[in-house]
Amino acid sequence: MTLAPGNGPVQITQEQLQARIQEIAARIREDYRGLEPHLICVLNGAFMFHTDLVRALNMPCTIDFLQASSYGNAKQSSGEVRIVKDLQFPISDRHVVLVEDIVDTGITMNYLLHYLEGRGPRSLKIAALLSKPSRRKVEIPVEYLGFTIPDAFVYGYGLDRAQFDRNLPFITSQE
Ligand code: 5GP
Repeated sequence: MTLAPGNGPVQITQEQLQARIQEIAARIREDYRGLEPHLICVLNGAFMFHTDLVRALNMPCTIDFLQASSYGNAKQSSGEVRIVKDLQFPISDRHVVLVEDIVDTGITMNYLLHYLEGRGPRSLKIAALLSKPSRRKVEIPVEYLGFTIPDAFVYGYGLDRAQFDRNLPFITSQE
């Protein structure tokens, strides 16, 4: 789903977010029928998406949390990633869905994919709320995507603006 193809501000309303999450949850429920998926939230930005997605799933599943930090400033990742909060539970033989807020250059997801692959999951797929394909430096297979957006800095619904505004129930890019 593509939004704001022009140069206007990105606005994804609460209703649009929730409707899209219901659609993604329905797909995951279908794809993982009988498989008890393990949904890993990439902190901090994905916390709202992960919560709403898990709540909408309505199937047996488990969850865990992972936090990565990339060196550099808030708007520009440097390419170096490290884990600052590791998983609590093993993922060997689990069907893992990695839940991320936004795929920008793809560097963070690329690192996390390799990191998790090394822990032997039975399967590993990505659910990302947002994607900025025009910024991609590493190709990332996003199985479940909420919205494709243009190259603008967005915040709200879990994503921060200098750590604030994560609690907005919608996504915006007014700057
Ligand atoms: P990547 O490694 O794909 O370049 O960057 C991914 C991370 O950068 C995201 O998880 C997010 O934390 C941050 N990021 C990228 N674009 C945006 C944006 O437009 N707004 C906010 N708040 N964070 C962003």
